[in-house]
Amino acid sequence: MATHHHVLIIGSGPAGLTAAIYTARANLSPFIIEGEPSSTTDQPGGQLMLTTEVENFPGFPDGIMGPELMGRFREQAARFGATFLTDKVTRVDFSARPFRVWTRDQEFTADSIIVSTGAQSLMLGLPNETALVGHGVSTCATCDGFFFRGHEIAVVGGGDSAVEEAMFLTKFASKVHLIVRRDTLRASRIMQDRAIANEKIQIHWNSRVSELQGEQSLSGVTLTDTNDNSTRPLAVTGLFIAIGHKPNTAIFQSVLNMEDTGYLLTRDGSTYTDIEGIFACGDVQDHTYRQAITAAGSGCMAALDCERWLEHQH
Ligand code: NDP
Repeated sequence: MATHHHVLIIGSGPAGLTAAIYTARANLSPFIIEGEPSSTTDQPGGQLMLTTEVENFPGFPDGIMGPELMGRFREQAARFGATFLTDKVTRVDFSARPFRVWTRDQEFTADSIIVSTGAQSLMLGLPNETALVGHGVSTCATCDGFFFRGHEIAVVGGGDSAVEEAMFLTKFASKVHLIVRRDTLRASRIMQDRAIANEKIQIHWNSRVSELQGEQSLSGVTLTDTNDNSTRPLAVTGLFIAIGHKPNTAIFQSVLNMEDTGYLLTRDGSTYTDIEGIFACGDVQDHTYRQAITAAGSGCMAALDCERWLEHQH
């Protein structure tokens, strides 16, 4: 027997939890399916659970640890009556109302749904990589670049993100090594020219990061030449992985309109998806800004859009 909710929120990063705070304060008793703790992609709290100190979230002049910040978001939503289920959504049916959502062993129905399942950074897949995230390994230069003032660091990737991050990091680092697996960059011509002209950036062509050194924090990496498999050490204290992102939209394939890259499409200036009553916010529909504060902002928009839409229905 399915349990019915007025507002069901899928995902509990800054977007989902902000939507929860707003809809809870509007007496809509939101129900949040927050994700699965064992997973690195669907963990409750989202990507901030994988970071250490957050220094750019307004209101915390001394910084705050990512997991603590998300704990506070959650507490604030719960205070106004939001309820949570720690589980993962495995299937949805948005073809008729009420909408239907399944976890592994439960079914729910809802009048409206806010999708905030986020995105994940693609990772290299090295054994100790996840353990070193927040301890030298990062996927966000805007968030963590500041911690590497005066350090020698590396960026992996050859696309626009990698080049942009490398350029940004030259503001802090003494030297930035750009590790590129082929003999050419995928980044746009103008970005390539800038990277090549920047004296602080050294490009390592035909190279891949094959090992990460360090127990508590990163102390260096091993580079493997993609042509002859020879290896060489590179002493860096920071490694920024910029090989692309993937939105968590597998369960919405053929259900919601999305870009070829998998990001959900929303109507300009709003969080409306192509299905009335389904709203999307946060990184699942934003490949440009990808910040906690912008995700929270769009979570607020989704809550207001949803509240107004529900009002209209009755
Ligand atoms: P891209 O997919 O464009 O580039 C990914 C890069 O990472 C490629 O160089 C790829 O190498 C490399 N890569 C992939 N997997 C691995 C791996 N396992 N090990 C080592 N290297 C790997 O992703 P981006 O995030 O850079 O960009 C996504 C989109 O966003 C693009 O369309 C881009 O143009 C856009 N963008 C635009 C910006 C701007 O205009 N300012 C800024 C940032 C992004 P290979 O080339 O060999 O496949």
